[in-house]
Amino acid sequence: MSRNTFTTDGFGTNTQHLSHFQGGLVLRHHKKMSCEPSLHHAGIPEVLIVAIRNNRGHVSSPVVKVGEKVLKGQLMASPKHPFGTAVHAPTSGKIKAITDLHTAKPEAVIQTCITIQTDGKDQWIEQPKNTEKPQTPEQIILKVKAAGITGMGGAGFPTHIKYELKSALTEPTLIINGAECEPYISCDERLMADQPNEIILGTMWLLKAAMSKTAIIAIEDNIGGVKKKLDAEIKQLNLLEKGIHISVVKVPTIYPTGGEKQLIKVLTGLEIPSGQSPLSLGLIMQNVATAKAVYDAIELQKPLLERVVTVTGDVVGEPRNYMALIGTPFNYLLSLAKCDFAAVDKLIIGGPMMGYAMPHDYIGIEKTTNCLLALPAESTKPEIESMPCIRCGDCVKVCPQELLPQQLLWYINGNDHTNDLEKSRDHHVFDCIECGACSWVCPSHINLVDFYRFAKSELTYLDHKKAKAQLAQQRHEDRENRLESIKLERQAKRRSKTSKLTNKKTAKSEISAVLARIKQQENNKKT
Ligand code: SF4
Ligand code: SF4
Repeated sequence: MSRNTFTTDGFGTNTQHLSHFQGGLVLRHHKKMSCEPSLHHAGIPEVLIVAIRNNRGHVSSPVVKVGEKVLKGQLMASPKHPFGTAVHAPTSGKIKAITDLHTAKPEAVIQTCITIQTDGKDQWIEQPKNTEKPQTPEQIILKVKAAGITGMGGAGFPTHIKYELKSALTEPTLIINGAECEPYISCDERLMADQPNEIILGTMWLLKAAMSKTAIIAIEDNIGGVKKKLDAEIKQLNLLEKGIHISVVKVPTIYPTGGEKQLIKVLTGLEIPSGQSPLSLGLIMQNVATAKAVYDAIELQKPLLERVVTVTGDVVGEPRNYMALIGTPFNYLLSLAKCDFAAVDKLIIGGPMMGYAMPHDYIGIEKTTNCLLALPAESTKPEIESMPCIRCGDCVKVCPQELLPQQLLWYINGNDHTNDLEKSRDHHVFDCIECGACSWVCPSHINLVDFYRFAKSELTYLDHKKAKAQLAQQRHEDRENRLESIKLERQAKRRSKTSKLTNKKTAKSEISAVLARIKQQENNKKT
């Protein structure tokens, strides 16, 4: 089979069909300690801190007030923007506050959160009488949208949008991403091991929404019995007889195989063109937890109220995976996992490569929070002062996006701030997935990712400023044009008035002249 020809035939049994991406790292996993115990329900904490802005930055408007009683599943915030998502109460209680707090996002950005004082009753809002399953792709997409489902693997892109956008395609292939490549994170593996049926059924609903019959579930080749469990479910449901092809494919455990672009390259040999999405190749990618959330929404009429979070790290006494309500404070989960709080040097959301350090532990988990990693001082990289780049090229060798990290650094550090930043854009800084592989290998200890994050946010700010300036310029020009046309209109009116007066005067003098001539002629006759 050609590397550039996409087919699912043979996947699942033979990894020789797989392609590979450039670069990447083989890292120690640190997953076993959290993945071995089965999934545990975290229960209901006293408060939930629910952020109402999703990762893509689109805020929803609260539809509840402070002091109001809410029931489980009740809508608390509805989207103002097509890329926003509905936010529901994860349990029953009373709205304690709607305030700006740190959130489980990059830099722990401060955003509006709804704090619920829970009542421990977990009382559901009345379910709609009509629980008929959706029949058409449009009905499925509406259900997914109403349930507030976002991608749960990282970016938090609203799930329904991918299916709304795909309408031009006849039959996209669905890729369910279970390749959790960062060290320590094991929530997807645990979910697949404990709830394979829900994942397969959720995948089938997503296939219906995409009007497709082909899906690949990608898992790492180092995870135990998960493939067997998923394969058994597929067999049990007689999917092949129904013409549905769901293959479970093991992919090499190389960081960052779970990245969208890298996984597509491994599975299909194809590359997503810069600035485009998998849809441009006829592919839709979802995380395994998203497939489970779709199952909950359609089969159980349950909005997205909970997710699996890995709570782990060298100072966590009982690392494991918890099914936790959205908004559960970090400190509640860390206490359950017997964390030695005094020994925590760094608390990270996500993994050690792409995760973000949090300033404190009174922050609620979000739909995209996959891991809480508590590390002591001896496990965190000592702050070694960085040295100048020696242009060794090691960063280039490991970059899975085929970028030139040292060249990007050169531009970002340039003296001509704006022009040099623009050069980093030309060298595709926005294609950087912030995987940290380049920083990891840099012998000069340069935290390269920080530079790329800075460049991206500066360029975004400059674009915003430029767009604002263009808008202001446009408004100015519109105003000038308006004033000019008013002026011309007035001038025209004045001219026409003057010409009328002149005409009137001319007519009068012409009449007087005629009368004078007549009078003169009469006088002449008399004499
Ligand atoms: S790895 Fe570090 S020192 Fe080597 S070229 Fe890249 S940035 Fe420079
Ligand atoms: S952080 Fe960006 S530049 Fe560095 S290796 Fe990853 S994708 Fe490449």
